[in-house]
Amino acid sequence: MIPALPITGGCLCGAIRYQAAEPPSGGYFCHCTMCQKSYGGLFMTSLKFASTAFATVRGDVTYYRSSRIAERGFCINCGSPLVFRYDNVENVWVSLGSLDRPFDWPLTAEAAWGEVKHVCIESKVPWYSIADGLDQRPLEQMVSRNAALGVCGRSAISSSPEDARSTAAPFGARHPERTSR
Ligand SMILES: [Zn+2]
Ligand SMILES: [Zn+2]
Repeated sequence: MIPALPITGGCLCGAIRYQAAEPPSGGYFCHCTMCQKSYGGLFMTSLKFASTAFATVRGDVTYYRSSRIAERGFCINCGSPLVFRYDNVENVWVSLGSLDRPFDWPLTAEAAWGEVKHVCIESKVPWYSIADGLDQRPLEQMVSRNAALGVCGRSAISSSPEDARSTAAPFGARHPERTSR
């Protein structure tokens, strides 16, 4: 049973409100270093929606270009992270906690509403243990080698994904840019 549509949400201060006309197709815990910085937590939790089903109904999302192939949307007034999107990909990833009813979309192994998994686990904070039984995917299983190298902007000097991983890029090679998810 699908929760009532549209799905609604917004930022902390209320300046931005959004709605989704269709249910999400998946839920993700992303442990990449960029999501850790952007969300100020150990990982990002997000729901994947079709871009065409998602729209703001009040206020304007401000976008920060976090890499050359993706950007992150937030409220300029209160700073709440709201949306992640790749260039030329027909999906948006919406911060689970920004929904009015995040509890409607459990990110659990029993969830029947869509695909749910952990991604970019190679950069997970080591002392945090995942014990929810969900799939855990490293970056390399989700992106092509070239895309992985491109994420950190070091394609000219990196010769392998291992190089990308071991290089301490400030806005690192840790995000699943260009995934198949
Ligand atoms: Zn706000
Ligand atoms: Zn991430």
